[in-house]
Amino acid sequence: MQRVAILYDASQAVLSTFDLDEVLNQVLAIVRDYFHLHHGSILLMDDDKKNLVVRAQFGNEIPMEDFSVPFGKGISGLSAKARRPIYSPDVLNDQRYINKIASTRSELAIPLMVRDEVVGVLDCQSDLPAFFDNETVDLLTLFATQASIGLQNAKLYSQVQRRAAQLEAINAIAKRTTVELDLKELLDRLCVQLPQSFPVESVSIFLRDEDGDLVLRAQQGTLDTKLKIGDVLPHSFACTMHEDGRRPFIGNPATCPGGCFPGGRSEICLPLVSFGENIGLLVCTTTREHDFVNNDIQALESVADILATATQNARYVDRVRQLAYRDGLTGVFNRRYFESRLVDEITRAARYGGGVSVLMIDIDHFKKINDDFGHMLGDDVLRLASSIFVRNLRKVDIVCRYGGEEFAVVLPATQGASAAAVASKLRRAVGNNHFPGVPYPVTVSIGVAEFPTNGISRDDIVRAADAALYEAKEAGRNRVCLANGEALSTAESTPGPTGQQV
Ligand code: GH3
Ligand code: MG
Ligand code: MG
Repeated sequence: MQRVAILYDASQAVLSTFDLDEVLNQVLAIVRDYFHLHHGSILLMDDDKKNLVVRAQFGNEIPMEDFSVPFGKGISGLSAKARRPIYSPDVLNDQRYINKIASTRSELAIPLMVRDEVVGVLDCQSDLPAFFDNETVDLLTLFATQASIGLQNAKLYSQVQRRAAQLEAINAIAKRTTVELDLKELLDRLCVQLPQSFPVESVSIFLRDEDGDLVLRAQQGTLDTKLKIGDVLPHSFACTMHEDGRRPFIGNPATCPGGCFPGGRSEICLPLVSFGENIGLLVCTTTREHDFVNNDIQALESVADILATATQNARYVDRVRQLAYRDGLTGVFNRRYFESRLVDEITRAARYGGGVSVLMIDIDHFKKINDDFGHMLGDDVLRLASSIFVRNLRKVDIVCRYGGEEFAVVLPATQGASAAAVASKLRRAVGNNHFPGVPYPVTVSIGVAEFPTNGISRDDIVRAADAALYEAKEAGRNRVCLANGEALSTAESTPGPTGQQV
């Protein structure tokens, strides 16, 4: 009766805490103090259920190298497999016994069960042979049942805590990302934030470009990387295997030899899906094997969903911003953009050299085209002229509609003869083009000025280009004039709308 009271107290003690290590130590303290054992340990089943690993112990210490027992081997491994207590009253004459502690003479192993699953073993040992009588075996078995509940509670509690911490992290990420409308800033911030809230060591974000390639846009972490920002994710990398999927892909060294980081051992690749479209990939890497468990995967999927939405929002804002810099009729940049980009390019040229040139282009006798064929056709001419400029320039050149039938072009890192040659090329391209509905050639006059020769401020350069354009008009149109007063040859000029040679 007294022992039953002890058992009751012991159970209360074990169930009084949710901390796993505390539960284990309580259990061992009780078997040591109430049952007077010489040695005791608690072994827990590892994740792949192949080994029982010593998690807590008292008495004669088990050597480090003997810290685990294969499932089904030794007294404790066998009790786990058989799902019942196994008692060996005389270990020295027991084939099943694996000798870990020299002084042990009798051993009782009791499986720790949660529902029908073995989660571990309570291993009790004494230096005396036949130490455990029937009553002690029964009591310890009853106690082990209570201890299992304590273990399970602690496990559940740590899962709940982990989940709560993840939810908090997701919430924090959602709060910060949804207010961030600058895409680069958004991606960089997430890469920094994620390792702070989740046990991941490196984070990479790939976004799909117009060609469908996944391009590395942001990366943070402690691991050495194989890729740099702007690199396309090679198809040989494991994470591409799932790139069109909707579910996360988990790579381990065996299945994922080509991860983003040479030192990575586990990698989770989460597709970024927005409105059913796969817009990119979030890749989290750790140096631990098999590191992503169900719980983390769900939480990281939530992060990926938040990221996908925030990315789309930022892209949308980016598009709206772009629209504010575009001319509605022609689609080329507008005057506001021209003015701000010219300042940027002047700053760049002042720092790194290479110059920058400006072309002011005005369509000749455009009023006559409007008068002869109507404004609608006039608009078509403006659109076609814009596309001729864009087609005949480099990607880095900036074509803008300055106003009415006047265009301004910024030519970064271009000066002198090169700028004049570009202007002549544009003049010829327009003059040689057939404009549908206009029975005579459409021509342009162009003024060219450059930094720093013709001015060092934006306004000075624009004024110089404007003055050169005026000179070109004065000199008869369909020609290029440079701000230094030079007029380029118009030998290949075509007749203007008035029929006269210009
Ligand atoms: P010049 O050779 O001296 O440049 O003569 P021009 O007729 O081209 O110049 P002017 O400044 O006299 O006329 C420009 C015309 O462009 C007047 C204006 O109605 C027309 N215009 C301005 N914006 C637009 C537009 O968006 N669409 C159309 N169709 N016409 C426009
Ligand atoms: Mg004009
Ligand atoms: Mg004009």
